[in-house]
Amino acid sequence: MVNSYGLNGMGMQAIALFHQIPRELLGEATYVCALNACSHSGLVGEARLIFKNIEMKTMRIYSTMIDCLSRASAFDQAQELIDEYERNHSPESTMYMALLSGARNAKNVYLSQNIYDRMKKLFPERKDPLVSAAVLLANVYASSGEIDKASDIRLEIYKSGTKKKVGLTWITVDGQVYTFRAHDRSHPRSNEIYAEGEKISNEIIKYGHQYDSSWITRVLDEDETVESVLCGHSERLAIAWGFVANPNASKLQMVKNLRICGSCHRSTKLIAAIRQCEMIVRDANRIHHFYKNGQCSCNDYF
Ligand SMILES: [Zn+2]
Ligand SMILES: [Zn+2]
Repeated sequence: MVNSYGLNGMGMQAIALFHQIPRELLGEATYVCALNACSHSGLVGEARLIFKNIEMKTMRIYSTMIDCLSRASAFDQAQELIDEYERNHSPESTMYMALLSGARNAKNVYLSQNIYDRMKKLFPERKDPLVSAAVLLANVYASSGEIDKASDIRLEIYKSGTKKKVGLTWITVDGQVYTFRAHDRSHPRSNEIYAEGEKISNEIIKYGHQYDSSWITRVLDEDETVESVLCGHSERLAIAWGFVANPNASKLQMVKNLRICGSCHRSTKLIAAIRQCEMIVRDANRIHHFYKNGQCSCNDYF
């Protein structure tokens, strides 16, 4: 229950419930859930208090706390915890990934590059975390306008032979599940879906949305624009399909296998408000409730 509150952006309720659990029942899982809930609601002070009172601090507990501090851009304290942990243990890539995600969110190029270089030294054999780290690093460079640098990193990932996981979104429409990948044209009603996608895009632009190239980490092809690339993300296609099938839909529910990108997150908030349609998106990290008032339950902590 603590975890469910946390995933749904109800950090205060999660903490209140956590404090009702008798001490003898508290263990690694409860601590991780409570710290996670703090982390996703920006309750850093609460997290610090909980962490301080934990007697047996495991690797997962350290990682979760480091994630919480990194999300709040408390990088020095996160680093101190890593140092503390490494006094008695070998380094863990998840801790560095948490730090790097935080640095990415803060668009801190210098710190991101620094963490990535350390990861390469510490975990030369761990291909998967290194690829994920490289993707984050490319994102940081892209968001600070260094597209060439971002493309170089992507090329490096490509050459290493490891592929980035393909982003997929599943949507339930009239009791049936449909799957979309980015720039998907496999649906028999693709033309209508893309037309609807364009219509939605025009609506959100009218309400002040700007497509942000920093969410793109590759060089665009000649026939692409920032808008066309971002509108082709799998969740945007799924939303468009939802409205093609039910033009007056008041609720859409989706699942995405990766983390939702910042551009889709911002667009979806606007779409929910303009179309007066509540949208629930479960991504790799949490559950987003996009309300009709244009806000998301995650309060943009994601
Ligand atoms: Zn996206
Ligand atoms: Zn959200």
